[in-house]
Amino acid sequence: MKIEVAKRAGFCFGVKRAVKLAYETAAKSRQAVCTLGPIIHNPQVVKDLESWGVKAIEKPSRVKNGVLIIRSHGVHPRVLQQLRAKKGLTIIDATCPFVTKAQKAAACLRDEKRQVIIIGEKEHPEVIALKGYAGRDSMVFNHKSVKVGPRIGVLAQTTLSTDDFVKALKYLGSKTNDIHLINTICRATQVRQQDTMQLAKRSDLMIVVGGRNSANTSRLAEMCRKVGKPTYHVETEDELKARWFSKAGLVGVTAGASTPDALVRKVVSRIRDITAKKEKPVKGLKVQKVQ
Ligand code: SF4
Repeated sequence: MKIEVAKRAGFCFGVKRAVKLAYETAAKSRQAVCTLGPIIHNPQVVKDLESWGVKAIEKPSRVKNGVLIIRSHGVHPRVLQQLRAKKGLTIIDATCPFVTKAQKAAACLRDEKRQVIIIGEKEHPEVIALKGYAGRDSMVFNHKSVKVGPRIGVLAQTTLSTDDFVKALKYLGSKTNDIHLINTICRATQVRQQDTMQLAKRSDLMIVVGGRNSANTSRLAEMCRKVGKPTYHVETEDELKARWFSKAGLVGVTAGASTPDALVRKVVSRIRDITAKKEKPVKGLKVQKVQ
């Protein structure tokens, strides 16, 4: 049995940067350090940061003083304003530059006096923040019917799949001709999706590593299932089951943008261990010494 890891899998630039900032801040700060929401959608990383004294705080009202790190998803402009007004609070903004670009795109479409439509997940923190830049009459497209005005501006959550973007655009295009479209899907997401799809097509089985609360990891698992391959989404190597690998010739492994490389390595190593134990010597096979 062979194991192949997708060419591009695991931590993306924005997540790597945010996590690095969090560890560096924890190491040098003399004040309490917190993040607004979990720094990334990976429970293992969040837990490890807690051991460094970095707490994830859900409500901005709970943050009083010390150091606050804004995660790569960014934050609603009103919340940012409230936080900046707090005396004794140092803000470290780890918003991914690509998310900042999407926020600027939303503001630009709003300034053009268009109704801004964001294609993405309504409850995702990045989308909630984007909506703050997109203006009051903006809305999140959910593939169901939406009331579309005559002049619209369209953008996407950075981790949206290209397929979902195209599908939504087809629908919106059938409602109005006046569309200013800004493609804000991040390249890191696109290449992870492309590499995963290529690997899934060749593999007998796919293992997707990452937080269950990670939208982009769940999307990778969804895509693998769509090409008809048995797919298991695991957070750690402890969830792997030997029976999954009984008939697999090639096992593909991929990981979302919020999955640390070390976790992927642990999963690969455990698959090797599990499958090595299973490979029993073939009965009746005599080994001849080659002279
Ligand atoms: S997926 Fe893209 S936009 Fe999102 S954090 Fe990573 S690099 Fe930034």
